[in-house]
Amino acid sequence: MLKQIKGLHHVTSLARDARQNNAFFTNVLGLRRVKKTVNFDAPDVYHLYYGDEAGTPGTVMTYFPFPNAARGRPGVGEVGRTAFTIPKGSASGWLDRLTTFDVTGLSQDSRFGETRVLFDGPDGDGFALVEADDNRTPWTGNGIGEDIAIRGFHSADMRLRNGAASAELLQFMGYEKYGTQGNVTRFIVPGGNAANAIDVEVTPEAQSALQGAGSVHHIAFAVENRARQLEVREALLDTGYQVTPVIDRDYFYAIYFRTPGGVLFEVATNEPGFDRDEDTAHLGEALKLPSQHEHLRARLESTMAPIGD
Ligand code: ZN
Repeated sequence: MLKQIKGLHHVTSLARDARQNNAFFTNVLGLRRVKKTVNFDAPDVYHLYYGDEAGTPGTVMTYFPFPNAARGRPGVGEVGRTAFTIPKGSASGWLDRLTTFDVTGLSQDSRFGETRVLFDGPDGDGFALVEADDNRTPWTGNGIGEDIAIRGFHSADMRLRNGAASAELLQFMGYEKYGTQGNVTRFIVPGGNAANAIDVEVTPEAQSALQGAGSVHHIAFAVENRARQLEVREALLDTGYQVTPVIDRDYFYAIYFRTPGGVLFEVATNEPGFDRDEDTAHLGEALKLPSQHEHLRARLESTMAPIGD
């Protein structure tokens, strides 16, 4: 069993409209945009990152807004819902706030004794805000007070037709079974970064998901550094997983592999971080391009639609 994985690092999803996406995560949810760059494999498309002040691993929601993307179809074989932690007692304040912004899909429930506010993102993305104790410092620079501000990720839900192989994989990755409520089994990694839970939701009869705007593309797990990442890569290869070589994503190093249930997993390093090419005080303001795409800057700056502050 691996000991290197410390919870979620980031969650990456697909969107349709960059400006709308930016407004939702900064104005409505109050996260900080910590990087404005492009999809390294498709540089005409933005890659937007939202998180806490520094973009600490475990807080970072990222998006590829493809302007003409069709909306995804929810189903099995994907991450169905991404959850953020909010302070205890703040759910009603969030319900009011999200209602004010005409956010859809609003409801409230309880899972494993924790109060959750459920809602949709701009493209129907499934989200939850979960009341829990969490001592991470929130970003309050967008006008949402510390009394209710999002702390970072709480968990991600894998929606599967059969959860057995993924449960085995999570336990190999260092997660421990926490409990079962209905068709949901929670796994928690001990000693993690606070974004410690993965919920496996089994729905045997459900249709397969079709990826599109509003779908999670992959979830990334955090490891401290490149040495720990190579250990994880070696162990996954030894277990029979097809794992990519290490890929330099400028702000972290990444490896990817597909889980038995069809969800794409990444293992990402906590180094070097989002302040490697701009000051923490100005994160996310300028368009940052990886060196291999720097020669495209003039064209990209004139053709990519502005997204707002
Ligand atoms: Zn990623």
